[in-house]
Amino acid sequence: MPPNSRRTPVAIWNEEDVIAGRRVKAFVTILRTTGCWWSRKQGCTMCGYNLASEEGIGLPELRAQLEKALASYSGERMVKIYNSGSFLDKREIPLEFREDVFRGFAEAERVLFESRPEFVTEETLGELPSDKVSVAIGLESSNDDVLRGCVRKGFSVGEYATAARMLGSFRIPLRTYLLLKPPFLTERQSVEDAKLSVSFASEFSESVSINPLNVQKGTLVEELWRRGDYRPPWLWSLIEVLKSEKRVGTRVFSSPTGGGTPRGAHNCTRCDRKVLEAIQRFTFSQDQSEFDQSQCECKTEWSALTGVQDVMSTSVDVNRYLDSELELE
Ligand code: SF4
Ligand SMILES: [Zn+2]
Repeated sequence: MPPNSRRTPVAIWNEEDVIAGRRVKAFVTILRTTGCWWSRKQGCTMCGYNLASEEGIGLPELRAQLEKALASYSGERMVKIYNSGSFLDKREIPLEFREDVFRGFAEAERVLFESRPEFVTEETLGELPSDKVSVAIGLESSNDDVLRGCVRKGFSVGEYATAARMLGSFRIPLRTYLLLKPPFLTERQSVEDAKLSVSFASEFSESVSINPLNVQKGTLVEELWRRGDYRPPWLWSLIEVLKSEKRVGTRVFSSPTGGGTPRGAHNCTRCDRKVLEAIQRFTFSQDQSEFDQSQCECKTEWSALTGVQDVMSTSVDVNRYLDSELELE
């Protein structure tokens, strides 16, 4: 890693998001920190974020990163600060630095950051400007067996619910991330799991982001994927999940990382781009008719393959076993 990478954010970009139903410009930065404590202990099966972390990053390095981020900031209404871990864990983000962040982005209407639920406490929330923050928690699934056996999340659904209620009592909006297709679930099981999870999480959340698994380097999922025992979800599955029953008023959306590539959610090369565009439109319109035009021959293949997985009772990438010519990236 180059020596000054500790003083430079991992990434900075612009996108759009929604605040209280309004589509707004968003400024996003990923800060390099010492990383998620859970990732060092066991880590989630799909998470390669520790590659963006480094030991020994303290206040001076973080302040240098913030200065660079602020130099690119031009008053976007929403600011998203990611740190490949928990913004509320003082070992990753010292308290003084948190204050620097809120001071630096004082112009923003909303600052969103991520945290594991164990750091969402009365004490940490009491230290925040609650009128402008929003917290994102990666619940992944509302099923404890899936969290334990497939995701290795290191917390329970009950711990998420406690944190979510705590945020509610501080009137801090919650964004919940759900994982579509953890390893060891069939395509159909993963759709069912994600639908139930949307219905559960929407009760607590202002928005629910469906994150179809993308295969990250150095993870257990990457090993499974390389030997043909894992296929990222189909975009057809993602559409099913985006149409889930949910609490009225909760926005459900998805911006699939690596969508349309072998490591990300994909259908076939003929329809990936169009289907991803429909998913992007749905993110803002919340109108299911966006998907009406999304048709392709591969939908029959998706349906057949999910059926074969069910019959064989396997979560392996059946297509890869049937078509050994298929190439990975
Ligand atoms: S997914 Fe989140 S909680 Fe899990 S290891 Fe990665 S950063 Fe930590
Ligand atoms: Zn297709």
